[in-house]
This record gives sequence, structure tokens and C-alpha cells, in this order.
Amino acid sequence: MTRRPILRFAPSPNGRLHLGHAYSALFTAAKARELDGRMFLRIEDIDWLRCKPEHTDGILEDLAWLGLDWEQPVRRQSEHMASYTTALDRLDKLRLLYPCFCTRKQLAERAGKRDPDGAILYPGTCRLLTAPERMRRMTAGEPYALRLDMRKAMVAAGDRIRFTELGEGPAGETGRLSIEPQRWADVVLARKDIGTSYHIAVVVDDAVQGITHVTRGQDLFYATDIHRLLQMLLELPAPVYCHHRLIGDETGRKLSKSAADLSLKSLREAGVSPEDVRRELGF
Ligand code: GLU
Repeated sequence: MTRRPILRFAPSPNGRLHLGHAYSALFTAAKARELDGRMFLRIEDIDWLRCKPEHTDGILEDLAWLGLDWEQPVRRQSEHMASYTTALDRLDKLRLLYPCFCTRKQLAERAGKRDPDGAILYPGTCRLLTAPERMRRMTAGEPYALRLDMRKAMVAAGDRIRFTELGEGPAGETGRLSIEPQRWADVVLARKDIGTSYHIAVVVDDAVQGITHVTRGQDLFYATDIHRLLQMLLELPAPVYCHHRLIGDETGRKLSKSAADLSLKSLREAGVSPEDVRRELGF
């Protein structure tokens, strides 16, 4: 018996959904139909500083209004924090993590090469701390993040890690692709404030939910480097990836949740119908 493909739409409830999210959700649903697959909804709410229950309610309301349907249960990441800690512990046992005490301000003051998200590449300052110095600062209660020692991680994972891209990256990347995680340097895998990260939660959940096809926007294309690397280190299965174009506003800027005027809620209140949205987005 062949298993049916499993897809997910994974919004973060830190604001109202806008047209870009609608495109991603409709794209995922269309792909699931095309593949005779199953579709799940995952609420990515690990960031309790920004995510609010009323935004989760808003997501459910907006998706239902769009006429979308998904299988139960809905996975809420905030209910699974312990599994992300387990994954971090595993990486820690492999000696691939180190505490980083640098403050946002210290990092912002630096100049230099940037990662694909536009942040300064971490120069590895705290990687060079001695063990007693680390202990001293941790015992003194100085807050810290956990970073992946990228060079060590790449050696541990082995070279030539690849993934299948069924869609397209921002520069037209498609087909069988090699990862280039060094362009991220030592990424944060456990944030100071929330104790985990998007990267950890996404690879753990894609595995737990048996996701076979990851459909998402091209803004996350380069994050696939980190996700495939973590899947190798944590011995998790590799889904195939299908990145889709981003929906911009009239000026070509990527939509963000602050673009409240294009939220599905305000479009609905202005009399726009779900059919109008689908037509506008090409579904
Ligand atoms: N939660 C992420 C977002 O809203 C999507 C994560 C993913 O699809 O991998 O941008």
C-alpha cells in the first residue's frame, strides 16, 4: 500500500492573515489535491511574546471563510515545547551547541557579511570562550542563546546533503539541490527569550506529522539549508520542498502582517468575496 502524501500549512499567529498567507494556504490545498494528499494545519506559536490566541482564532476563521478544509488534529507548537528541548538536548550531546551571551545591541553594532535573512553573520565570539568562562557566566545568570557550531555540524552531518525542490527558489533554483548551510554561519537554535527556535520546531514537527511535501514561500527557501542539516543530525526523514512565489503589494514589496489593509479580515469587511480572492490569486 502506498502512503498518501502529507502537506501542511503552518502560519504563525502573530497578526491577521493577509493575501500572501491566502496564496500559501490555497497553494498547499491545490498541491494536496493534485497529489491526492492530505492537508494539515499547524499553528506555529512558539513565540509567546508575539503570538496571541485571538490570532489563532482569526486564522481558523479566515481559512474557513476562504473555503479551505484540513484534517484534524490541528498541531499547536506551544503544546510540544518539550519535544523541541529533546531535539536540542540531542544536538548538545553531540557537542554541536554552545551558549552565546552576545546582546542584540552588540550584534547590531558589527559590520560584515550578512546571512540570507539580512542579519550580520555571527563571527563566533562566544564559540571561543573557555569552558570555565562559560560556566562562570551561566552560573551568574547571564541570559544566553544556543548556537549551532556550523563547521562542526557540517562535518558531523557529512557532505553532499541534498534536497529535492519541486518549486523554485528566489534565483530559480530547482531540481536536486545541494545545501549551503555555511551561508548562515552559527545560527541560533534556542533563542534567549523562548528557549527554542523556528528551525528546531519546524524539523521536529515535519517529522512528527509525517510531512512528505513542504509547501511554503520563497522567503524560506534558504532556511532549507538549515532544515536539511538538522534532519541529518537528528536522523529525521527528508520531505521534498516546493517553494512558491511571494505575493507583493502594488509596489512589489513583500506583504507583512503589518499591512493590515490587505488582511483577509479587512478585505472581507470591505465586501470582497472568497471567490474574488481566489480569482485574484489565480486559484
Ligand atoms: N510559520 C512560518 C511562517 O508563517 C512558516 C513555516 C514553514 O512553512 O516552514 O512564515
